[in-house]
Amino acid sequence: MIIQIKPDRVGSPEVAELCAFYETHPTEADGATLVITSGSVKGLDPKFLNLAERVHVTDGDMQLSDKRWLEGRSSTVNGLTVGDGTTTAMIAGPCAVEDREQIEKTADFLVGLGVKLFRAGAYKPRTSPYSFQGLGLEGLKILREVCDARGLAVVTEVRDATHAAEVLELADVAQIGAKAMYDHGVLKACGDSRKTILLKRGFGTTLKEFVQAAEFILSRGNPNVMLCERGIRTFETGTRFTLDLCGVAYVKEKTNLPVILDPSHAMGYRYGVSDLARACTAMGVDGLLIEVHPTPDKAKSDAAQQLTFEMFQALWESLPPVAAAVGRRIA
Ligand code: PEP
Ligand code: MN
Repeated sequence: MIIQIKPDRVGSPEVAELCAFYETHPTEADGATLVITSGSVKGLDPKFLNLAERVHVTDGDMQLSDKRWLEGRSSTVNGLTVGDGTTTAMIAGPCAVEDREQIEKTADFLVGLGVKLFRAGAYKPRTSPYSFQGLGLEGLKILREVCDARGLAVVTEVRDATHAAEVLELADVAQIGAKAMYDHGVLKACGDSRKTILLKRGFGTTLKEFVQAAEFILSRGNPNVMLCERGIRTFETGTRFTLDLCGVAYVKEKTNLPVILDPSHAMGYRYGVSDLARACTAMGVDGLLIEVHPTPDKAKSDAAQQLTFEMFQALWESLPPVAAAVGRRIA
């Protein structure tokens, strides 16, 4: 249940009484104090009715992300509004920051095309301890400097809570990766920030768990959450993961959060990424996340799936009519 307190009653002793009566999660989302109680509560006790501007009762854990509570949420990053239904935003860049030259080259290329949201990981959550783990703070600083010089926004990953503060300070959008989706230290740090959070779905995560992770962020007062489908693990091993487009239809229908699709990590091989990106665009989503690298075969992570500049440019040029067919533009 969500209770929106009347503006003139916010901070009153009666609200304190209400918070003591229920198990509450106060949040300041949407400019008003909201109090959320557990989903099993059937309605507001009549003694508190005069405090409430609006009461929303749902039967599950989908609360602040529920479309029936709030029709749509959007986040504006670098002048680009993601989630208002008009645009499919391109979020692109290499998997990892490897060195300054690689980031400069890729940023120059993308800015030349008109891309506004640049993504690369400085803290890489690798499955093997012997793989490249990212440049950490040094990489984050390179990203910030290169993007500032070119008017690009920085999208980069928070791998764990130990460096959440530095990512949340220096990035424009903090990505929570598939492996960190269950990390409550990361979720809480991102919920306490007001930066836009790109929350990826874990590859073994149900849609319910995915939405619950988003609720962790929203319920701490950060309304700027975007969901990202990046493929789930199935019995199939021919491709890296399986892109769950039914799940995308579900979150589009039920939640008020912008939805981003990541065909790069789902496919795992560059040959399929552009076709999938066009298919995703035709679904009418709020953004695409695409990996692109100056010399993909030499990449220190995700080498097989990153597009060459030529492939990316061909994809970029092919997208506008696909987006237009579903009433959107590419930006
Ligand atoms: C990434 O975005 O480079 C990444 C590590 O993705 P995921 O968390 O989806 O595996
Ligand atoms: Mn990657």
